[in-house]
Amino acid sequence: MKIEEVQSTSRMQRIAAHTHVKGLGLNAQGVAAQSAAGLVGQEAAREAAGIAVELIRSKKMAGRALLLTGAPGTGKTALSLAVSHELGSRVPFCPMVGSEVYSSEVKKTEVLMENFRRAIGLRIKEMKEVYEGEVTELTPEEAENPLGGYGKTITHVVVGLKTTKGTKHLKLDPSIYESLQREKVNVGDVIYVEANSGAVKRVGRSDAYATEFDLEAEEYVPLPKGDVHKKKEIVQDVTLNDLDVANARPQGGQDIMSLMNQMGKPKKTEITEKLRQEINRVVSKYLEQGIAELVPGVLFIDEVHMLDLECFAYLNRALESNLAPIVVLATNRGMCEIHGTDFRSPHGIPVDLLDRCMIIRTQPYSLEEVAQILAIRAQVEGISLGDDALPALAEIGGRTSLRYTCQLLTPASILSLVNGREKLTAEDVREASQIFLDAKASAALLLENGDRYIT
Ligand code: ATP
Repeated sequence: MKIEEVQSTSRMQRIAAHTHVKGLGLNAQGVAAQSAAGLVGQEAAREAAGIAVELIRSKKMAGRALLLTGAPGTGKTALSLAVSHELGSRVPFCPMVGSEVYSSEVKKTEVLMENFRRAIGLRIKEMKEVYEGEVTELTPEEAENPLGGYGKTITHVVVGLKTTKGTKHLKLDPSIYESLQREKVNVGDVIYVEANSGAVKRVGRSDAYATEFDLEAEEYVPLPKGDVHKKKEIVQDVTLNDLDVANARPQGGQDIMSLMNQMGKPKKTEITEKLRQEINRVVSKYLEQGIAELVPGVLFIDEVHMLDLECFAYLNRALESNLAPIVVLATNRGMCEIHGTDFRSPHGIPVDLLDRCMIIRTQPYSLEEVAQILAIRAQVEGISLGDDALPALAEIGGRTSLRYTCQLLTPASILSLVNGREKLTAEDVREASQIFLDAKASAALLLENGDRYIT
């Protein structure tokens, strides 16, 4: 029997709820359209975020952070993801929650450091021997996703690649599909696949790994070595954390290609400060030589009020570093105590850090906006809505929260299927909301029947 390590999917799922967000949806003058690039309403916050993007582009954000404040479900995460999209399609986006720093095994600052390095990208250019081919087929396959979320998930994409030696079928995994989508790779596009490096290949124009896929035998086979078409400059995107993890047990040389070659060889060894310094040293050398380029991404820290003084001190220092990502903090708290102390402060954030923040407020949504957002989510999740479904969803959204209502879409669509309907109806929505309580309904029930629970 094979025992496999359980991988955390929370990071991917956190982004999955926002796949409809493609940017801030601003025009050339920086004015927000009511609904654009997947974002609805929240115009003032989007325009303010647009100005922050301009500051980042003109390198005037150094040492500063963005702070998004607003009630739960008012789009703080969505907005910060939009900022990362505005900065470029290959910009890393690393979301985390303040409470993640509390672990019995890892130091708080270590968790922060790891996430900082996840949000710093490196673009490495090198000459590679590649196959050049045209994408002939791009097929998302849908399968049941037992972890919930979407109900359906894309398991793989088959790309038929025309080479000098006929069509090769490459099977890409879902994370790659995301990156292909981000880059809008379509049928007819020319892409490049690295040859001569064993079973795992990289596809140019995306950071994809691919192996040839025998469609008839339904199995992966390595691309044949030596069937090289031409030499081509291949761009690879990695994060500093990818390099840390890959080189936790250093083998081979200390040049950037040896560092990169360790990727994809999973092992579990502690990442030491010494290793990070070594990686920084090699990376700096290659940045100086122009072989690699730094791509600062976005580190999003939700529930920032959960951090304590030690973490805030670390954040202050890290913001000053010349290897810093764009830091976006978010909180839904007003005046409260700084975690672990008796000091009260706005948003539970010490004033010296607040002083470095550009603060953007997100506003509650109108019923109409809630309906618009739900319609977009339903479309992304492939759920067809009957005429009465949207008003019912919006009504629940107004009464409960946007997040709860977005999450209701999947169970409601399952109920609809069970009930033998092709389109989601108001009845399915109400049934789902009775099965899965929202926070307020659950609290009300507790008040009513408090004596039946153990206290
Ligand atoms: P919390 O404070 O609880 O972390 P939040 O403010 O980060 O909440 P989100 O998670 O961004 O809220 O929003 C909840 C859901 O609604 C997400 O799926 C998000 O993509 C979507 N959403 C929020 N605002 C908008 C918007 N203006 N346009 C489109 N979708 C939105």
